[in-house]
Amino acid sequence: MRELENLKEHILKDYPRLDRSSQFTFACHKNVPCFNECCGDVNIFLTPYDIIRLKKNLRISSTEFLKKYTLSPFDKNLKYPVILLMMGDDAKKKCPFVGEQGCRVYPDRPWACRMYPLGMASPGDESPDLDREFYFLLRESICKGFNEDRQLTVEQWLDDQGINEYDQYGEYFKKLTTHRFFLEGGKLTPQKIEMFFLACYDIDRFRNFVFESSFLEKFEVDDVMREKIRRDDLEMLKFGYNWLRFSMFGDSTMTVRQSVYDSRKAELDAKMKKEKD
Ligand code: SF4
Ligand code: SF4
Repeated sequence: MRELENLKEHILKDYPRLDRSSQFTFACHKNVPCFNECCGDVNIFLTPYDIIRLKKNLRISSTEFLKKYTLSPFDKNLKYPVILLMMGDDAKKKCPFVGEQGCRVYPDRPWACRMYPLGMASPGDESPDLDREFYFLLRESICKGFNEDRQLTVEQWLDDQGINEYDQYGEYFKKLTTHRFFLEGGKLTPQKIEMFFLACYDIDRFRNFVFESSFLEKFEVDDVMREKIRRDDLEMLKFGYNWLRFSMFGDSTMTVRQSVYDSRKAELDAKMKKEKD
């Protein structure tokens, strides 16, 4: 993780900053001499939306997907849990989804794979231009795509790669991960780390938790919303973000049932009475 911090510093200091109208020359197709070369030995961080797209593509549950294809590195400096796509243990450390003909999950490949050769960065927590995200070019030496005769803008590349939908769900995640709790140095307890992992990454297990525990006895969730989250992973994901913001940061994104307040109050009254007596 220290390496990633150093890379971020290097990018912020030295890389030319691009905006959506900036132009660059690049193409990637089956006839480039480096075809498939980049699909191995690489750190690919998966977003919650990536995981939903990939597990659907593979027709498995999020729990199975996480177990079979990912790692969750532990580092005490991490503010929240992150998920990495697990590379193979062969000499080239190939991505589990690369095949002779290219990416086997191409329609649902992760955000990071779509973006390459573009990267995205923001100056960071301490900077006055916190929100000024910018794009930059990652020129990997193995990549011959820069020698191709195709000029395009950043905007065209993002459209071409279907990034917009990913960014839409990325914004919800960003609201969570750039919450002032984290910016002010807040640390999650082990229990909250587990909650974060569950609601963001393991959507099928989170759904079971919501419907099979006393969750719905504690929170006001109307019938329409219950139906939506029962059927739709993306609705479940947005619901999970609201639950996390309520539980981790105290935001008013969920409504606790009056009966829960009443029974909590009765418990406290009884405890105080006992202490007095
Ligand atoms: S997910 Fe697809 S595009 Fe991304 S590294 Fe793996 S094979 Fe390559
Ligand atoms: S190395 Fe570059 S050009 Fe070659 S397959 Fe990967 S992205 Fe495409």
